[in-house]
Amino acid sequence: METWIDIPKNSDFSIHNIPFGIFSTKDSKKRVGTAIGDMILDLKLSSDLGVFDNLNFDFNVFENEHLNDFISLGKSITNNVRLIIQKELSDSSSALKNQSNLLIKQTDAEMHLPLKIGDYTDFYSSIEHATNIGSMFRDPSNPLLPNWKHIPVGYHGRASSIIVSGKNINRPKGQVLLPNQETPSFQASEKIDFELEMGFVIGKKSNLGESISTSEAEDYIFGKVLFNDWSARDIQKWEYVPLGPFLGKSFASSISPWVVPLEALDSFRVEGPDQNPKVLSYLECKGLNNYEINLEVAIEPDNSNESAVCSSNFKYMYWNMSQQLAHHTINGCNLNVGDLMASGTVSGKEKGSYGSMLELSWGGKKPVILDDGNSRVFINDNDTVIMRGYCEKNGKRVGFGEVRTKLLGSK
Ligand code: CA
Repeated sequence: METWIDIPKNSDFSIHNIPFGIFSTKDSKKRVGTAIGDMILDLKLSSDLGVFDNLNFDFNVFENEHLNDFISLGKSITNNVRLIIQKELSDSSSALKNQSNLLIKQTDAEMHLPLKIGDYTDFYSSIEHATNIGSMFRDPSNPLLPNWKHIPVGYHGRASSIIVSGKNINRPKGQVLLPNQETPSFQASEKIDFELEMGFVIGKKSNLGESISTSEAEDYIFGKVLFNDWSARDIQKWEYVPLGPFLGKSFASSISPWVVPLEALDSFRVEGPDQNPKVLSYLECKGLNNYEINLEVAIEPDNSNESAVCSSNFKYMYWNMSQQLAHHTINGCNLNVGDLMASGTVSGKEKGSYGSMLELSWGGKKPVILDDGNSRVFINDNDTVIMRGYCEKNGKRVGFGEVRTKLLGSK
């Protein structure tokens, strides 16, 4: 597939991608666009030219402030919108060509949170991550809890504090138990961390009481984003027993602005790791259910260049998205369009592939050296954490852009 748009080499937003997002410019309100190369194609203005006329839906969804109504049209429409965009951008006689107002430079636009997220769930599905955490805090000879290989472990997180890339956050305050103390102190967290994750967006609702099988699960997934599950390790450590993460997580989570449809990732499917012991039958899966997605994290200190600190891959995940959804709904819990499910920290086997500072610095014991000579055990004030992700195979590249968040000092 060739396009008449000039796409820079190694662009995440090739003609094979066609992600959806919400943008605005100084002249226009929030609206739906797709990223292509360094540009954004305005889908409302495209619809005004009649390119989607063969599809039966209300084009006003392209003027909404979130993607939810567009996604709710269902894959029979949204996949066809994507195919039409690809066809128009490939056709040198397209009605979209030579319409200067249709294509906006990404640098001239502001990106917004793409979804109205009703519910957010975070899983814990990387065996390497769970093993590292279990080794550090429990027993290195028996790091996984007895349930881990039987259940895609997860918890219900907070949706209201999910922010889009580019927004800054403040270092949160809370209760921490300082070393050699018996009672907690109230202070700014001293252990702010990132967690390298990917999120997937629910594209089809299910009814209360209904369960989704592993074979149906991908029909319910619209697409994927990069996800940074910001974590305050000292607050988390004091509060998490017995009910799990709470204020140590809910101060912020960041996502990338472009939702990459699952269909754009189809050629990057791979087999997942062997699951031993055998899972219960409702979690059994056939086919290629993992995805090969290169993931990277960099830290950019204030007034310095960024340093890569982690290189991982989504293919390492022990539990795949279909199993996560089958498990999530096996008790009849219903899903809504725009719900977000995050994978859990994506760590690999090698040290440089660990997806959090907690693991990279092994609990703060081994500082990570940055390119400018400075070191980090956790994230400092005014550091920007940048996550990137892309798939690449046979010259075809589909990427997620980045999620970039600066940590400011506490208020
Ligand atoms: Ca997490």
